[in-house]
Amino acid sequence: MSNEIRNKILIVEDDPGICTFLRAVLASDGYDVIIVNSGGGALEMIASHCPDCILLDLGLPDADGTLVIQRVRQWTATPIIVISARSLEQDKAEALDLGADDYITKPFGSIELLARIRAALRHRRTALDDDEIALTGCYHVGDMEIDYRKRRVLMAGEPVHLTPNEFRIVALLGQHAGRVLTYRAMLRELWGPSASSDNKILRVHMASIRRKLEPNPSEPRYIFTEVGVGYRMADGED
Ligand code: CA
Repeated sequence: MSNEIRNKILIVEDDPGICTFLRAVLASDGYDVIIVNSGGGALEMIASHCPDCILLDLGLPDADGTLVIQRVRQWTATPIIVISARSLEQDKAEALDLGADDYITKPFGSIELLARIRAALRHRRTALDDDEIALTGCYHVGDMEIDYRKRRVLMAGEPVHLTPNEFRIVALLGQHAGRVLTYRAMLRELWGPSASSDNKILRVHMASIRRKLEPNPSEPRYIFTEVGVGYRMADGED
């Protein structure tokens, strides 16, 4: 990691032992470290110090960490990595669906943690793209343009005929370009928390979307399959 730009990491954790461990690991890897031990303190600190990445415990004394995720996501796309002893798939899915970028289950090692932080920092650029969508109403990659205001997709300037559900899928992936969206997260986002967990509907839509968007559907350029996990839209680095 370059020493020229020191990224600032905010740790939101009430366990003093874990705070000491995290501070040592992060400081020795060249990060500036700020620590708060409550949800309320976290919100103040995020607003006043604009950290580059947030490590968030879920079991906080004054609030559940999921509440912090919800509040933070109302105004900033700063990466949030949840660090929690809760290891159920349900808890992970909830935190990710609320807008956390990643989830690490305690106990974890320093090498894994540092790798996840580097990945989260890389994805900040995607968060800036999200701001660009908010600003311009469009997402561009290659010859494809998603026009969020007119709810349509253009390929090399020509409108592509997508069904409403196909558009919603493409639009969702575009908002998270460069990141894998799990099947579960997509189903919940598109059809609500009680949506079926059957991925078949996504696969059927995706086959149709690819026939319409991809020059060669068997070698996708715009929407990639992460086998067994979900889909990822190209972010210009692919
Ligand atoms: Ca705790």
